[in-house]
Amino acid sequence: MEPREPSESQEFAELWLQNLMVQPPDDSSWGENEYIPEDLQSVFNEPLFGEVSSDPAQPSTSPPAPTIPVATDYPGTHGFTLRFHQTGTAKSVTCTYSPELNKLYCQLAKTCSVQMEVNSPPPLGAMLRATAVYKKPEHVAEVVRRCPHHERTPDNNDGLTPPGHLLRVEGNPHALYQEDDNTHRHSVLVPYEHPQVGLESTTILYNYMCNSSCMGGMNRRPILTIITLETQDGQLLGRRSFEVRVCACPGRDRKTEESNFRKQQEAKNTSKTHATNKRCLKDTTSRPEGSKKAKTSCSSDEEIYTLQVRGRERYEFLKKINDSLELSDVVPPAEAEKYRQKHFSKSSKKEREGAAPEPKRGKKLLVKEEKSNSD
Ligand SMILES: [Zn+2]
Repeated sequence: MEPREPSESQEFAELWLQNLMVQPPDDSSWGENEYIPEDLQSVFNEPLFGEVSSDPAQPSTSPPAPTIPVATDYPGTHGFTLRFHQTGTAKSVTCTYSPELNKLYCQLAKTCSVQMEVNSPPPLGAMLRATAVYKKPEHVAEVVRRCPHHERTPDNNDGLTPPGHLLRVEGNPHALYQEDDNTHRHSVLVPYEHPQVGLESTTILYNYMCNSSCMGGMNRRPILTIITLETQDGQLLGRRSFEVRVCACPGRDRKTEESNFRKQQEAKNTSKTHATNKRCLKDTTSRPEGSKKAKTSCSSDEEIYTLQVRGRERYEFLKKINDSLELSDVVPPAEAEKYRQKHFSKSSKKEREGAAPEPKRGKKLLVKEEKSNSD
């Protein structure tokens, strides 16, 4: 047997480790200008990244924090999910969630209520960890932290919250702020609490302590919040993530981005339809007349589209074309062929009969067209 080709993820792991070895010893600066080729982005979600420690020389005994955090949803055996209050897109709203985009829009330092739900209770001592990461692969290696300005500016800090942390938990004295020894990533943990009687979920209140636009901080780079349900010793039980934008007008921005998203989807759909129509057109012209296959491939598209036309004349013209197409859809191919032959032989007969035939222009054009079509 031949030696197996190294898999994509193996290759990437090697590349990754090499990369780490040439990094300067000052960990805070590494990865700032990291570029991760797009073809390797797909391996980000490989569980492998949960295993690669940033310091390959000294494997840690406790579960190492992933160098590149994994953001894929993993409900786990406890069916871990998140829920958000429906707050709409009113101008005054300070925090709103878009299910369509799986994106939370909120104002700086305002309360973001996230409900955690499980379908079976996790083991005693389970924790909920929230970590912010950059969404784009070219930024993901960099730690998300507050901008220098906000970090220095005194806010309603209780003295227990590290000023550099973007994410805070509000109103929970058990909140624990961590900076990973290896990756230097920030996270905030709270003990998992069973939902109160009559409730299905546990609510945690988060604050984002910088705007997405903060210079020297997020700097307009989109972020994700990853929430993990973990055992007391850090074993993963479940994972969920959502995108976050911290801005001045969450309602307005959500509205705009949702409408842009819908437009994009529409454009995608129309370009697909155009492509299909083109194919259909090609099919009918290239196939021999009377071919049933060509016909069904077009008429199977039953969706109705509306076309806006400027000017009556143009409208009548396009309507005529459409009417003919509709008609040709109902006329059996054999009948159409019969009609064509009758028509064609008549005019050519005329041409042959007359000594100096003066065929009508329209007819001659039609004959010509049909000839080229059947070629
Ligand atoms: Zn800031």
